[in-house]
Amino acid sequence: VLEVDDLYVTFNTYEGKLHAVRGISFDLKRGETLAIVGESGSGKSVTAKTIMGLLEKNATIERGKVLYNEMDLLELTDHEMSDIRGSQISMIFQDPLSFLNPVMKIGKQITETLVLKQNVPKKEAKERALKLMEAVGIDQVERRYNQYPFQFSGGMRQRIIIAIALACNPEILICDEPTTALDVTVQAKILELIKQIQKDRNLSVIFITHDLGVVANVADRVAVMYAGKIVEYGTVDEIFKDPRHPYTMSLLCAIP
Ligand code: ATP
Ligand code: MG
Repeated sequence: VLEVDDLYVTFNTYEGKLHAVRGISFDLKRGETLAIVGESGSGKSVTAKTIMGLLEKNATIERGKVLYNEMDLLELTDHEMSDIRGSQISMIFQDPLSFLNPVMKIGKQITETLVLKQNVPKKEAKERALKLMEAVGIDQVERRYNQYPFQFSGGMRQRIIIAIALACNPEILICDEPTTALDVTVQAKILELIKQIQKDRNLSVIFITHDLGVVANVADRVAVMYAGKIVEYGTVDEIFKDPRHPYTMSLLCAIP
């Protein structure tokens, strides 16, 4: 469903030009989970933001294509890209607080997505939102519906973000380190939730993480990024049994 071809992204910074992503290529097949693994600063989030059309103003896409059903997303207008974000490709961010509106009730944030992005009639939106909240494992949804983000724990907030992403009814879900801010037991539960949703809805998922340990658990294939490049790309089995790049080997050694 998605193909990234020779993508190269730089940033203008005070210290000059920064080459964040240096000519990477990969594809995402329908219904699979592709993990992108790499250390901090290797270009994972930049790649995700490029696909979503959410790069900062100081970024330049030097070359490359992002093909979604044969359409190059990099050639779309902001308006067209915003439509795609509301309906076909959704992203879950590392830090749920940066995404949620702190002064708007949780229920309203979900119904707004349904009404504005999916054209769900206002009358049906509440019921749909409650169903989504249940689907992501929130209990007492009627009460929770009228609460604000600060009244939720970190793990619950991440579930809300997932509910909002699902409200867009996407075909592709990009998860950018969705569990890094959470403690280990909550991490495992959120991972389970993402896996289950992926299966139920036959979503195509890009799962970004710096933890190769979770990859075996969620992914079908893996791309390992190092300094802006993909240095290893294959099935989970291939990469765990026969890593080629020293960086992948060091990652594997680090798994307890
Ligand atoms: P992490 O695991 O820490 O999230 P990452 O792999 O997601 O790391 P990116 O956020 O993709 O890393 O960053 C890649 C490089 O691009 C880094 O060197 C980062 O400093 C730089 N970078 C990212 N965004 C900007 C920006 N808006 N302006 C300047 N440099 C940026
Ligand atoms: Mg990142």
